[in-house]
Amino acid sequence: MVFMLGVGMAFSSCSEGNKKAETKENEFSYTVDRFADLEILRYQVPGFEALSLNQKQLLYHLSEAALMGRDILFDQNCRYNLAVRRTLEAIYANFNGDRKSADFKALEVYLKRVWFSNGIHHHYAEDKFFPEFSRAFFADCVTQLPEDLVPLRTRQTTEQFISELTDVIFSTEILTKRTVQSGDEDIIKASANNYYAGDLTQKEVEDFYDAMKDPNDSTPISYGLNSRLVKENGIIQEKVWKVGGLYTQAIEQIVAELQKAVPFAENEKQKAVIETLIDYYKTGDLKTFDAYAVLWVKDTDSEVDFVNGFTETYGDPLGMKASWESTVNFINREATKRTKLISDNAQWFEDHSPIDDRFRKKEVKGVTAKVITVSMLGGDCYPATPIGINLPNADWIRRDHGSKSVTIENITEAYDKASQGNGFSEEFVWSDTERGLLKKYGFMTDNLHTDLHECLGHGSGITLSGVAADALKAYSSTLEEARADLFGLYYIADAKIVELGLLPDAEAYKAEYYKFMMNGLMTQLVRIELGKNIEEAHMRNRQLIARWVYEKGQAENVVELKQRDGETYVVINDYQKLRSLFGQLLGEVQRLKSEGDFAAGKKLVEDYAVQVDPKLHAEILERYAKLNLAPYKGFVNPVMKEVKNKQGEVIDIALDYSEGYTEQMLRYSRDYSFLPTYNE
Ligand code: ZN
Repeated sequence: MVFMLGVGMAFSSCSEGNKKAETKENEFSYTVDRFADLEILRYQVPGFEALSLNQKQLLYHLSEAALMGRDILFDQNCRYNLAVRRTLEAIYANFNGDRKSADFKALEVYLKRVWFSNGIHHHYAEDKFFPEFSRAFFADCVTQLPEDLVPLRTRQTTEQFISELTDVIFSTEILTKRTVQSGDEDIIKASANNYYAGDLTQKEVEDFYDAMKDPNDSTPISYGLNSRLVKENGIIQEKVWKVGGLYTQAIEQIVAELQKAVPFAENEKQKAVIETLIDYYKTGDLKTFDAYAVLWVKDTDSEVDFVNGFTETYGDPLGMKASWESTVNFINREATKRTKLISDNAQWFEDHSPIDDRFRKKEVKGVTAKVITVSMLGGDCYPATPIGINLPNADWIRRDHGSKSVTIENITEAYDKASQGNGFSEEFVWSDTERGLLKKYGFMTDNLHTDLHECLGHGSGITLSGVAADALKAYSSTLEEARADLFGLYYIADAKIVELGLLPDAEAYKAEYYKFMMNGLMTQLVRIELGKNIEEAHMRNRQLIARWVYEKGQAENVVELKQRDGETYVVINDYQKLRSLFGQLLGEVQRLKSEGDFAAGKKLVEDYAVQVDPKLHAEILERYAKLNLAPYKGFVNPVMKEVKNKQGEVIDIALDYSEGYTEQMLRYSRDYSFLPTYNE
């Protein structure tokens, strides 16, 4: 599971550590590019130089492997994405007309958006976005391309190709939404992604997987995780993503790089992790995947760590099939003292959580948490990047073997630095009192909330025996994120946190409460187009929590939406009562999950998480527009290179931060693109 940053603001504390860092970082420019609703940043990799050559080489090969699977994600997101990307890149490179014309500029922006979203649908809102150049311009550009640069299907003419892609890009009728998460329509048929093919219905998919499941299996594999389900000639079957299967061209490259990484493994445990992952990629066997996940979760001694594979299931409307992603990282020892305190006390937090005793974990196992520094992002972690990750996702592995939770501090730090002084809090925060809290504690409480969410929240509680892992179906992602967020919100205000030295005083948590409520009730709406509802699971979760506690606290005026000069603000009148409301909702969401209460889960999400107040929405958008900020951010990676001596031996790995966004995307498309355009 992942944790994404909310909208617009990050806060800097004035601690000594940060001041020291600032002087050095004044020379580092965080902003790389800005277009549409996006801003591209770069991140630093502090501590890299101090690693051993062996560790650097391990990071290097894992980083190469992180880039090898980029095409897979494009194809998973929609079966036309590689055709669109390759056509646009060919036009971009070969265009002979006026590169300053409005049409060409629009093509450039559209291509940058396709890169960012790994396809033609908005990375967060999931809807198809549209270019501002004309159909005629597109047809003209394709016609002028040398024929070998047009990614035609077998026996397809250029005219047919243009007609097909024009519909894909411009039509408001087809492929309108990447993943449809809810509603009364058939969510499989309505989704444009490529996890299911051959006109399957939701019922056919559910029946197919229900037939596989054994309700008495206490250690079930993650059914359907690494395959596309297809119906061909009336027969429904899985096409597995593995060496020799679907996506083999990219997976072979990933495997080859992982093999190069093996000799640099830091210890035997880590070596076994990489080798088992290779074995899984070769066989596609989900039992081997579980074996890998168990080895991975137990490898807690290594400094270098990584994720590489079919991991998160947010993109599948049924939450089974996983998108490909990779992160490569090493531990931040100093900051990890913080998360170690949390995980050392995991049992205490579990025992005191405001949930029914029946849903409590009697024995919390192996919660390990660390703060990491990423050195490469790939697949579904790039360019939009999580700030926290907790894996593995399989409930039984978490139950029997625990989980590994990370906070990615060089990413949160880049967000924070890049957003300083952008005018956001002046516009939306009620008064100097709240602004003071945010400035003093915001960066600290933000990171701590991520730690609590990832390290304890996702891992807490139990599912009653006999309740299926996917009982909450399309609502499970939203409710799971809500559970983790609520756990963090409830505990960040606990005296135990101050006692452990995680926050300096009993005031600090208010910064997180204010930010969360403002974001959930108002400011996250800047990410939604007027007239649309909320789709993305993390956003739904935030609104669900904020609206629910707002409504339940209304009789006692716990949280207010106050007007001033015709503008709306969040005001929190009673922070302690707000805390008990968070606790109450945590109890209910835990019950839903533990009992698999689909009807109640659906009602909670549909009542609080989805609908948007159109009047407030319009107001927030107007106020936000004046600030001229990008509601979404993503990152370019550093360039990692082997440095060799005259004998050709690697003597160092060098990092270079100077690459631009377009440069990086074009380089990746040139050097790391292995899949055919059409993968059927
Ligand atoms: Zn989460």
